[in-house]
Amino acid sequence: MSDKHSQSMATRAIHGSSGKDAHGSPHTPIYNTTTFAFSSTADLLDVVDGRKPGSLYTRYGLNPSIFALEETLAGLENAEMAWAFCSGMAAETALFLTHGREGIVCIGDAYGGTLELLASQLPLLGIPTQLILGSEIGRLDELLAAGAKLVFFETPTNPTLELLDIQAICAKAHAHGAMVVVDNTFASPVNQRPLELGADFVVHSATKYLGGHSDLTAGVLMGSKELLMPVWNWRKNLGSMISPEVASLLSRSLRTVVIRVQQQNISAQAVAEAMARHPKIARVYYPGLPDFPGYELAKKQMHGFGGMLSIDVKGNGVDATRVADRLHLFALAPSLGGAESLVTQPCTTTHHGLAPEERTRRGISGAMLRLSVGLEDSADLIADLEQALA
Ligand SMILES: *Cc1c(COP(=O)(O)O)cnc(C)c1O
Repeated sequence: MSDKHSQSMATRAIHGSSGKDAHGSPHTPIYNTTTFAFSSTADLLDVVDGRKPGSLYTRYGLNPSIFALEETLAGLENAEMAWAFCSGMAAETALFLTHGREGIVCIGDAYGGTLELLASQLPLLGIPTQLILGSEIGRLDELLAAGAKLVFFETPTNPTLELLDIQAICAKAHAHGAMVVVDNTFASPVNQRPLELGADFVVHSATKYLGGHSDLTAGVLMGSKELLMPVWNWRKNLGSMISPEVASLLSRSLRTVVIRVQQQNISAQAVAEAMARHPKIARVYYPGLPDFPGYELAKKQMHGFGGMLSIDVKGNGVDATRVADRLHLFALAPSLGGAESLVTQPCTTTHHGLAPEERTRRGISGAMLRLSVGLEDSADLIADLEQALA
């Protein structure tokens, strides 16, 4: 077999784990056990003290189903290491508590839970956090000079699909001795690999594209061994470990992640183009439209434009609610990345907690709908949007 790093992502997604089963199973089975027995105390101590790799206790992550998952995940982003968590928020929390204690700067819009953690909860522990908009990126130097050591952002952002320049931000942060983490959930490793562009960490809500079927909750943190090792004790003692059953289900999902996301890219482009032509749509937010402000940057740093888009319907929030309620194929649900298409109205769901002025400042109008394009036929999805807009 050829060297893992020379293989393409589609191959690594399927053959990314070296785990072999004694019975010849092509995939690591579910090791549904909390602990592992040893033949002697000396053998046990070899694993406990890290002299030999091996399974030990599932909450520590030392379980073959979790090892197999992590090996495949690391391969997807060409990361030296990947650690699985029970959710995307668990991965972020462990990272922030390990590497963010001297100060965290968040650039641009982010997932609601991340914003709440950074704005309201970490400061309770004395961790200084600063949240700036993408348009305020000129303040980054000043915030880094003041001592922040971790820069966090998503790109494309939720829900306006704003593009942030990964290489430029990494250069700036590194010049100040700070590290960079990119939440790559929206793009998925198929469309964007921030570690290759200079980021120190990538975090994913594997609940979304990596899982891909709206049937599991999980997270992953990727990066170098040196930077991930200090996260180990936090993950272990926060107890934020993925279960073997979910690890196995996620491993199964990863075998199809490349073809799923590639199809979602194609369908989202078709939906975005149809919406851009529609007389009842005021604006389409999709990185794959040549007149979208982030188009050039997306072409530079992404391998595909993604399955997420937002639209502003002509009218107000009530009109947008009416459209959302009339959709049949797009289910009204606040998640993304699954085989089934979903719609959310950010002002009533993901960004409901923000004051109306703050939503306006972030460019989120009441008339905005966010679409997660699934794996249905794009012609059927477009027809569904057209009947809802009629
Ligand atoms: C959903 C999501 C999260 C949180 O992930 P969970 O798995 O729900 O904890 C973080 N970031 C982004 C961009 C998300 O979409």
